[in-house]
Amino acid sequence: MSEKKRILTGDRPTGRLHLGHYVGSLKNRVALQDQYDCYFIVADLHMLTTKPQKEHIDALRENIHDMVLDYLAVGIDPSKSTIYLQSAIHAVYEMNLFFEMLVSLPRVSRLPSIKDMARAAKMEDEAIPFGLIGYPILQSADIMMPRAHLVPVGKDNEAHVEVTRDIARRFNNYYGDTFPIPEPLIGDVPSLVGTDGQAKMSKSLDNAIFLSDDAKTVQKRVRSMFTDPNRTRADIPGTVEGNPVFIYHDAFNPNVDEVNDLKDRYRKGAVGDVEVKDKLSAALNTFLEPIRERREHFASQSGYVEQVIYEGTLKMQEFAHETLSDMKKAMGFSGVWNRISRKARDRIKKLEKAKEA
Ligand code: ATP
Ligand code: MG
Repeated sequence: MSEKKRILTGDRPTGRLHLGHYVGSLKNRVALQDQYDCYFIVADLHMLTTKPQKEHIDALRENIHDMVLDYLAVGIDPSKSTIYLQSAIHAVYEMNLFFEMLVSLPRVSRLPSIKDMARAAKMEDEAIPFGLIGYPILQSADIMMPRAHLVPVGKDNEAHVEVTRDIARRFNNYYGDTFPIPEPLIGDVPSLVGTDGQAKMSKSLDNAIFLSDDAKTVQKRVRSMFTDPNRTRADIPGTVEGNPVFIYHDAFNPNVDEVNDLKDRYRKGAVGDVEVKDKLSAALNTFLEPIRERREHFASQSGYVEQVIYEGTLKMQEFAHETLSDMKKAMGFSGVWNRISRKARDRIKKLEKAKEA
């Protein structure tokens, strides 16, 4: 194994990825894949925490394909980074159980992110499944499986990495130094607001611009974006701070002079929303065009995405086996069954021999 430090992060395969995923996590992944050994998880088990029904499982094949195409399209390179399927790593189920013993129920059930996820899934508090409360524990198993040092995530996931750090510390404390204490790495825009200006951009809220949207769709979405509600005419001075159109300009328009000029005129009431929005659509489409082209390129190679996942998963299975076995050794747990079964087999053999004699 190389001497590089390791990254683990990933996404639930519930659909295509959007600009929020990009600024929150994908951008850092692409930037760091030379410096770190990267592991990117397709977290299908995590999908089950809010979407356990069969229809969602049936949609996985297509959703996983779409999501990994998005990975490749933004520049994640499978010759450098390992992309793998969570549910095919059997060690993670076991590791999750051991970690469940190292964290208190209030510690995880108090996390606002769990309630946010339940709300996004239109779930009443009383209906929150046990597994959703356990979300950060399963995520800890993902992170510690490749013994990751760094976890590039959006703001909503920061608290989960804190849980992981607690679990890693407690494990090391009980059983001896086994895991690095991972650090979260929050993106440039920790939580990108949606086009509705109301909540973070999210697949489930119909306020997203997807990395795979075509130019017309982007333009349409930008045209209908929420801006300053007090500005009913172009000559009314507007607020730039916290205004979604300008948050997006800052995040995706590299032409700083143009953005500053628009902000100046917006504050003075000397520019219409249409101009601000059309310049934003243009900037977004310039940013998205090469991503769309790479997406097309990989989409046209039948079976390529599946091969990437397959090879990454086989690699991760080996790593996982090693980590789980080291972990059980550290716990002194690995020999328990072996000793019992050895002694039992010896006796059974003896009894059989005695019967024969
Ligand atoms: P959605 O809310 O769109 O359904 P999700 O929350 O299911 O997406 P996850 O798989 O939980 O997606 O998140 C993947 C990564 O993307 C996480 O690191 C998360 O913090 C980040 N992320 C998701 N939405 C945003 C956003 N609007 N701004 C910044 N980061 C985000
Ligand atoms: Mg999320």
